[in-house]
Amino acid sequence: MNHDESRALYDRALSVLAGGVNSSVRATQPYPFFVERGDGAHVIDADGNRYVDYVMGYGPLLYGHDAPEPVQSAVQKHAAAGPMYGAPTEIEVEHAEFVARHVPSVEMLRFVNSGTEATVSAVRLARGVTGRDKIVVMQGGYHGAQESTLVEGGPGGAKPSTPGIPSSFADHTIPVPFNDEETVREVFEEHGEDIAAVLTEPILANTGIVHPVDGYLEALRDVTEDHGALLIFDEVITGFRVGGLQCAQGKFGVTPDLTTFGKIIGGGFPVGAVGGKAELVEQFTPGGDVFQSGTFSGHPVTMAAGHEYLKYAAENDVYGHVNRLGEKLRAGITDILEDQAPEYTVVGTDSMFKTVFTRHGAAERADACADGCAQVESCPNYDACPKTGADVSNAETDRWERVFWQEMKDHGVFLTANQFESQFVSYAHTDEDIEETLEAYKAAL
Ligand code: PLP
Repeated sequence: MNHDESRALYDRALSVLAGGVNSSVRATQPYPFFVERGDGAHVIDADGNRYVDYVMGYGPLLYGHDAPEPVQSAVQKHAAAGPMYGAPTEIEVEHAEFVARHVPSVEMLRFVNSGTEATVSAVRLARGVTGRDKIVVMQGGYHGAQESTLVEGGPGGAKPSTPGIPSSFADHTIPVPFNDEETVREVFEEHGEDIAAVLTEPILANTGIVHPVDGYLEALRDVTEDHGALLIFDEVITGFRVGGLQCAQGKFGVTPDLTTFGKIIGGGFPVGAVGGKAELVEQFTPGGDVFQSGTFSGHPVTMAAGHEYLKYAAENDVYGHVNRLGEKLRAGITDILEDQAPEYTVVGTDSMFKTVFTRHGAAERADACADGCAQVESCPNYDACPKTGADVSNAETDRWERVFWQEMKDHGVFLTANQFESQFVSYAHTDEDIEETLEAYKAAL
């Protein structure tokens, strides 16, 4: 593959953009390919190379790069009509009504502009309504670029994971291992009166994919309720991806107090939202005292795109298609791993997938996967799958980034460049795309 144009663009970008990119994960080595356009399930780079795309914008693009016609018309209509006003519009109400109708925990919403803004606002709301400062998060969990959650450490003490955040911020954050009920109960025994909320993804999709073991989310629900703290599910990735229109909370049957959304809910445009019980969400200003505001929040173009996205999924077999192809891909990769890399594990559910380069549980794996099962919840290989963020970060992350990802790219498949981020099947993917991808896995592994 020729990458001359991308390399030249990266040279220019390095002079005027920090690190040559506007989001650090895009700075793939030795230089990123620059995208010229999308086409269904594919992206075409500046040199004309075509890739089957499983990054899908890091999650928002449920339909791939060609949104269904109603989405495109709605975007054009709202872009031409405004595009925004600093005054409310009907489309914000319609979108909120739709989400509240489908997501079990949501009665009321506040739309914002990114997943980060959603988690920042949700944490502020939890602290505001409980009058408590501490939050519990999962080790390896990611909730965007927010000061309270960019931490490392454990229940015994946390510190900021990046320069620029005062260490006092981390004093209020307690990281615990995902899937470890005992530790979270101990933390509540010790700090229960000071804890405003537990904030977690229902499935760790940024460090993973790591599934909750049976009963873990229920235990978080119980322990937060017992101590008067809130349970916040960060469904920025899983929202309208896992569990269809009911999201992961519907799939697992655990109802949080607050939910953060992003990605799909904006139909490919910048978005975030905090949803939950009306008595809580109402506490945002101006109804309540917890400050929340934003120039672009509820942007009509975003609201229209997001609303048409979800309506189309309600009226067509979108989740049937993406979940079937997701399962086909996971099963196919599992078969290939059996032959070529039995120490690695396929993880994922619905239309999310990842191959974790981990040796965790390797001894059990070869037998357990003999039937080619790749659905994690029911897989006999379940014990070998990662259970915590650490299980994933202990995997062969360098090999993923420096070797495997590059090889897949050279075979025309665009995966997420780090070991930790989930990958996504879209409505635009076809059986042929999956077969081509499996051939690339065979060659690259
Ligand atoms: N929460 C989760 C679970 C995420 O995956 C992300 C981003 O990937 C965020 C929050 C932050 O969202 P954004 O990048 O839109 O700020």
